[in-house]
Amino acid sequence: MTSDTLAPAIESAELAWRDGVPESSRFGDVYFSRDNGLEETRYVFLAHNRLPERFRSVPAGGRFVVAETGFGTGLNFLATWQAWRERAPGHPCVLHFVSAERYPLTRHDLQRALALWPELEPLARQLLAQYPPLVRGTHRLVFDQGRVRLTLHFGDVLEAWQALTFQANAWFLDGFAPALNPEMWLEQAMSEVRRHSAPGATLATFTAVGRVRRALAAQGFAMRKTPGFGRKREMLAGTLNTGPEPPSVSTDRDIVIVGAGIAGTLLARSLAERGFPVTLLDAQPQPGQGASGNRQGALYVKLGVEFNDQTELALGALTFGQRYYHPYQGRFWHPTGLLQLAWSPQEQSRQQRFLDRNRYPEELLVPVDAEQASRLAGLPVDTGGLWFPGGGWLTPSALCQALAQHPRITLRQGAEVTRLTPCNGQWHLACRDGGGLVAGTLVITAGHQSPALLPLAAEHRFKAIRGQVTHLPEPALRHRPRAVVCGQKYLNPCHDGIAVTGATFDLHENNPHPSADSHRDNLGQLDAMLPGLLAPSCPAPEMVEGRVGFRCTTHDYQPVAGPLHAAGHDLDGVYVLTGLGSKGLAYGPLLAEYLADRISGQPHCLPDHLARRVHPGRMFRAAARGGPPVLQK
Ligand code: SAM
Repeated sequence: MTSDTLAPAIESAELAWRDGVPESSRFGDVYFSRDNGLEETRYVFLAHNRLPERFRSVPAGGRFVVAETGFGTGLNFLATWQAWRERAPGHPCVLHFVSAERYPLTRHDLQRALALWPELEPLARQLLAQYPPLVRGTHRLVFDQGRVRLTLHFGDVLEAWQALTFQANAWFLDGFAPALNPEMWLEQAMSEVRRHSAPGATLATFTAVGRVRRALAAQGFAMRKTPGFGRKREMLAGTLNTGPEPPSVSTDRDIVIVGAGIAGTLLARSLAERGFPVTLLDAQPQPGQGASGNRQGALYVKLGVEFNDQTELALGALTFGQRYYHPYQGRFWHPTGLLQLAWSPQEQSRQQRFLDRNRYPEELLVPVDAEQASRLAGLPVDTGGLWFPGGGWLTPSALCQALAQHPRITLRQGAEVTRLTPCNGQWHLACRDGGGLVAGTLVITAGHQSPALLPLAAEHRFKAIRGQVTHLPEPALRHRPRAVVCGQKYLNPCHDGIAVTGATFDLHENNPHPSADSHRDNLGQLDAMLPGLLAPSCPAPEMVEGRVGFRCTTHDYQPVAGPLHAAGHDLDGVYVLTGLGSKGLAYGPLLAEYLADRISGQPHCLPDHLARRVHPGRMFRAAARGGPPVLQK
C-alpha cells in the first residue's frame, strides 16, 4: 500500500471546474447538469419518485428512506431535505437518506460546489458543519433535531450495500454515465438495490441506457422511459410491484428503558426525537448519578495500531460523538482539544507504529513534539504525543439530566427495578416499592447493575470495575491545563475551580466511598506522568475530595449493544446497551443511535460487521452445561 491508500484515509474526488460547474477529472463527467443542476434533481429524482406527495403521507413516528448511489456534492440530499421540510407534516417523523461515495469531495470542494445554490444555503451550512473527515466507513449525520438522518458510507457502492441494513422507499441511481463509470451500474449492484428495496419502492435515474433498464427489469422493477431533463431526450423510472409500502413500526408499543445514565438518556432522547414515547426508570433521584455522575469526563478513545473492526468502531464513536455534542458546546461540551501523551517508551513506540501504519486526516489527529504539546496543553510536558483537535471534555451528569428533558420522555426516578419477566409477549418489571410496569419493548442500560437484571439463565462475562476520581482544587496545580491530557491517567482543564483527574481501575475492590489509597494512586501516577505539575499546596491524599463510580466492562473491553440472545436466536423486544467501561461518553452516542435505529425499524448507522462485534450474544454462556442460554421464566 502507498501512503495515499493507508487506512483509514480515503482518496478524495479530483475536481475540474469548467464554467463554474464541477467535473470529475477521474471519470470525465459532470456532477450535475450544466443547465440547472437543482432543477434537474427536482425533475429526475424528486418528481419521478413522487417524493413531495409521498412525504405528505408519512405518519407520526414513521420514516421515509431514500437511498442514493453517489453522494458527490450532496446536491440531491439537500434538495430532498428541502422538500421534506416543505412537505412533511409537522408531526415527528424521520427522513433517512442513505448514500455511498467512493471518492468524497474535500470540505473545501464541497463548499465551493454548494455555493452555487443560494436557496439551499441554510441547509448546506449545516451539512458542511457536520461533513465527516475523509475516512472510510459509515458516518451518521443528524439534522433538524433528528427529523433528518443521513447515513453516508465512504467506500465503494457494493461494499456499502453489502455492509448496511436498510430498506429504501425510493432510489436515486446517480453514478456518472454508465459508459464512464460501469461499476456503479453492474448487475450485482442492481441486485443489491433490489435486496434493499421496501415493497412498492420506486427508482429514478437520469440515464436511459438499455442495459441499465434491462438489469433493473430483471430485478423485478416495472421500468418506463420518460422524457429527460433539459437536453437529455429520455430517462428511466421504475416501481417494484411487490405490494403496498409496509407500515412503519408503531409508536404505540410501550418502550421502557431501565437505567438513566449516559446510555439510557441518550437512547431515550434518540427514540423520543423519532416520535416514540419512552419511559425512563432509575433507582436514583436524578439521571446521571451512577458511573455517569462525575463532574468531568473526556470524549476519548484509544485508536489501535491495526485498523481493524475495533479501531473502526472506536473511530466511528469518536467522530459521531464530536458531531453529537456540538450543539451542547459551552454548556456541557468543551472542545478544548485532547493530548494523548506518549508518556512512556512503550507508548512512544506504540504511537510511532500507529503513525507508520495508518493515515488519519489532520482534522482528526496530528503528531506533536514536546514543545507543541506543552503549548497546546497549557502545561510543560517532556514528550510529544497525538493531538486530537476535536477532542474535549463534558459534564456528564448535567448532560444526562438535559437529555432526559423531552416531552416524550417520562422519567420515573427512585424506581428500583428488581426483576424482569416475560409475560404474554411483553415484559413485566417489578419494582422494589411494590409497583410494576409492563413494557412492549424493554432496554436495559443499567451499567454494572445490568447483569443482575438480565432475564437469562446464563453465566455472563460482564465485570464491575471501581473507578475513583480525584478533585484537584485549582491552586493544587502549578499550571492551568488548557486541554485534556491523557496518558497513564487523565487530567481535565479546571471547571468551577476544580480539575478532575483519575481514574483508578480497581478490579477487586467494591468500596463505594472515596479512599485515601485511591487518591494516592491517582496523585502518584499524575505526578509521574506530568512531573512538577502538582504544587506544594496540593492537599494530601487523606484530605482531597473525589468520587467513586462502578463501570461495567466486558471480557473483551468492547461495548455491548443489541437484542438479547437466547436459545440460539435474538429475543423479541428486549435489548441491552452497556459494557461501555470508561468510554461511555465516546461510545454512548453512536450505540444509542444504533439501538434506536433497530428499535424503530430504521436504517442502521452501524455496518453489519460492527453490529456483530457489539452483539450481546458473545456475553453469555449456558448456566448449566449443554445448550445455549435460555430465558428465565
Ligand atoms: N448525487 C451527486 C450530487 O448530488 O452531487 C452526484 C453524483 S455524481 C453524478 C456520481 C458520484 O458517484 C461521484 O461522486 C462518484 O465519485 C461516485 N462514484 C463513482 N463510482 C463509485 C463507486 N464505485 N462507488 C461509490 N461511488 C462511486
